Amino acid sequence: MAEKTLFSSDEIAGRVAELGAEISSYFRNRPLTAVTVMTGGICFAADLIRQINLPLWVDYISASSYRGTQSCGEVCIKAKPELDCTGRHILLIDDIIDSGFTLNCLVEYFKKLDAAEVKSCVLLDKASARQKNGLCAADWTGFKVPDAFVVGYGLDCDEEFRNSADIRLMTD
Ligand code: 5GP
Ligand code: MG
Repeated sequence: MAEKTLFSSDEIAGRVAELGAEISSYFRNRPLTAVTVMTGGICFAADLIRQINLPLWVDYISASSYRGTQSCGEVCIKAKPELDCTGRHILLIDDIIDSGFTLNCLVEYFKKLDAAEVKSCVLLDKASARQKNGLCAADWTGFKVPDAFVVGYGLDCDEEFRNSADIRLMTD
């Protein structure tokens, strides 16, 4: 498979700074807990939390619905958060929405843990795939992307490419 750059590291950094400012403004005066969806959210979360100008707690959840380049249709939670989420203002940070299934399941998961509030931020949104399922967008989104497989900046293909600084489209 070949790869084509969709977003350069500079474009990503610019958008992450904007998102950080918006999120800081929204959560001002509320204690914020950022929960990264591992492993894909790792680069985005590392950059985004440093653009949030508020007291902030950090945790993660490990969830996956993909094997290789295909969704396997069910969300598997492989590691749960360490913190007690009761009464917390949670920001879920993930790499990408495809069908929307993973993020929707995780929002419900944190609501059931009695969080005071659950908001979500994703870097990428395959809006056409998500809308087909009638699912809502994240509260904050970096970029819309076409309905194709992307890698880099945390996103993998069978665990490869996560360390690419830019985001690339896999083409045949
Ligand atoms: P969904 O449940 O929305 O269909 O899938 C979301 C999850 O699948 C994301 O958190 C991500 O881990 C993975 N995923 C979806 N689309 C892509 C893609 O184009 N590339 C990569 N590497 N992962 C994807
Ligand atoms: Mg993921």
